[in-house]
Amino acid sequence: MTSDVIIIGGGIIGLCCAYYLQQSGCRVIVLEKEQIGSGCSHGNAGLITPSHFVPLASPGTIGKGLRWLLDPESPFYLRPRMDRELWRWLWRFLQASNVRLMRRNMPVLLRLALASRRLYGELIPAENIACHFQENGMLLVYSGPEGRESCREMMDYAQVLGLPAEWVNSGELSSMEAGYAFRASGAVYFPRDAHLSPADFMAGLARRLTARGVEIHPDTAVQELEVSGGKVVRVRTAKGGFSGNTVVLAAGAWSPLLLKSLGIRLPLQPAKGYSITRPLDHPPPRIPLILEEAKVAVTPMGDVIRLAGTLELSGWELSIRPRRVRAIIESTAAYVKGFPLQEWGKLPAWSGLRPCSPDGLPFIGPFSTPSNLI
Ligand SMILES: Cc1cc2nc3c(=O)[nH]c(=O)nc-3n(C[C@H](O)[C@H](O)[C@H](O)COP(=O)(O)OP(=O)(O)OC[C@H]3O[C@@H](n4cnc5c(N)ncnc54)[C@H](O)[C@@H]3O)c2cc1C
Repeated sequence: MTSDVIIIGGGIIGLCCAYYLQQSGCRVIVLEKEQIGSGCSHGNAGLITPSHFVPLASPGTIGKGLRWLLDPESPFYLRPRMDRELWRWLWRFLQASNVRLMRRNMPVLLRLALASRRLYGELIPAENIACHFQENGMLLVYSGPEGRESCREMMDYAQVLGLPAEWVNSGELSSMEAGYAFRASGAVYFPRDAHLSPADFMAGLARRLTARGVEIHPDTAVQELEVSGGKVVRVRTAKGGFSGNTVVLAAGAWSPLLLKSLGIRLPLQPAKGYSITRPLDHPPPRIPLILEEAKVAVTPMGDVIRLAGTLELSGWELSIRPRRVRAIIESTAAYVKGFPLQEWGKLPAWSGLRPCSPDGLPFIGPFSTPSNLI
């Protein structure tokens, strides 16, 4: 089968590329190894956060990471193993974790996040996608002095970069009518943030794409990229070959695996995270939260609420560590009253692999060879 563009991966990146390419008149094929939106773009926290402009690779992370390594209930885990790519990635992460690079990367991440935020705001109403999209901002809440300090730092950076951010003390938190009974000591409010239900957004977008003639092939794992004359000439799958003028690699955390046979080493590690979702029996809270010290996101999505967190460098496996899931649930108690911990503990957890670069910047753009691979 031939087309103008072949997209490998039916996650948020693959589908959004398909959307804008189709709009610009290209014939597009999407190849997905499982089901559309079954990867990381399914059960994530659904936050659209310009406020997330500080890369993980920042000076404070190393000290915290080392402390967390010793704590089985911390938000970070590294499965020790002899994996050259992992150690190479960690070395680059370490090199990127300095003030100079962090300051250089913050405005880049902010510009990207603001552009992405604007596009969601245009695409969702234009395509009438029902995905509980809300533009209510986000509260970064803290419970102790260390959290207060990092929130203050975030707010200072935001002000320097021109992103609106408001300091909220504990009294003001309660009067914000965010929909929680707060125990937290205070927060920073980022009014430009938004949130949605990622699975609903993915399903809605996939339907629009199919209706417009984008060919979506689920259960079609790409096995190899065949290269000749410096170009990808064929994308091989168990269901046959596909060819296109341009190939977009949007396979998320799995992207380095496909590049290996081309001799390309993409420094990208899968970083596992978990989420737990619970139906609500009362009106949903209005504003999502990030719990600063616990690194947990709390997102209302229509008639459910989701807790998400943890970053595990464990390779390409999706097993669930119950102790860390329990830690996500229990950590909310320090910030919010009335979370029925017993009930949450009975719910199944979801896991997903974030594609993580060492410096937090995404890989966007063409390879020099193969020259038609993006
Ligand atoms: C717990 C958690 C919470 C998160 N919360 C947020 C949040 O609030 N906001 C935010 O912006 N981000 C969040 N993220 C990160 C976000 O989910 C990811 O950055 C994003 O989903 C990555 O999208 P993607 O399209 O690159 O990857 P994916 O969604 O993983 O898509 C890649 C797709 O490629 C397919 N694929 C892989 N290999 C092949 C192959 N060989 N052939 C064909 N198909 C293949 C996979 O099956 C998959 O469907 C969170 C992540 C986690 C784990």
